[in-house]
Amino acid sequence: MAVLEILEAPHPLLSQRARDVREDEFGPALAAHLSDMAETMYAAPGVGLAAPQVGDLRRIVVADPGAGEKDEGRRLYQMVNPEIVERSRETTESEEQCLSVPEITVKVKRHVRVTVAWRDPWGAAHQETFSEWAATVMQHELDHLVGQTLYDRASGLKRARYLKSRKKALQAELAR
Ligand SMILES: [Zn+2]
Repeated sequence: MAVLEILEAPHPLLSQRARDVREDEFGPALAAHLSDMAETMYAAPGVGLAAPQVGDLRRIVVADPGAGEKDEGRRLYQMVNPEIVERSRETTESEEQCLSVPEITVKVKRHVRVTVAWRDPWGAAHQETFSEWAATVMQHELDHLVGQTLYDRASGLKRARYLKSRKKALQAELAR
């Protein structure tokens, strides 16, 4: 297991569309990669991580919407080639954060419920309906697979502030 480096916006890989995992890629190596992604997500700490965030342009997501909560709603989802197969008409809006766009929050409108179909790293098919916060997390992570992050959704002003704060952080890093 290993903690991977998380890319930060505006890194060009974060804006690219991920490709499907191929049949010959399922198996132990893929399972190990998803374990690394899960470890990286929990270490951050975060509730979801998509493969493009660690520089891998394949349709892979790990998520544990209940992470950080004390209740028993915690569960690690390891999703390969996830797809939203059903969406509620009803929408909701909440403040979101992203490990690849540190220190900003952006209000995003999402479907209240989504049904996601995916395969696990060994190839088995799964499907589940998520609602409220868990649905928001899934929609946020699936956005990463089409190259969309909170950086793209932020207002021009928020984006400018973000770039300024990242520049400062980078300069402080270099000066050390
Ligand atoms: Zn994100």
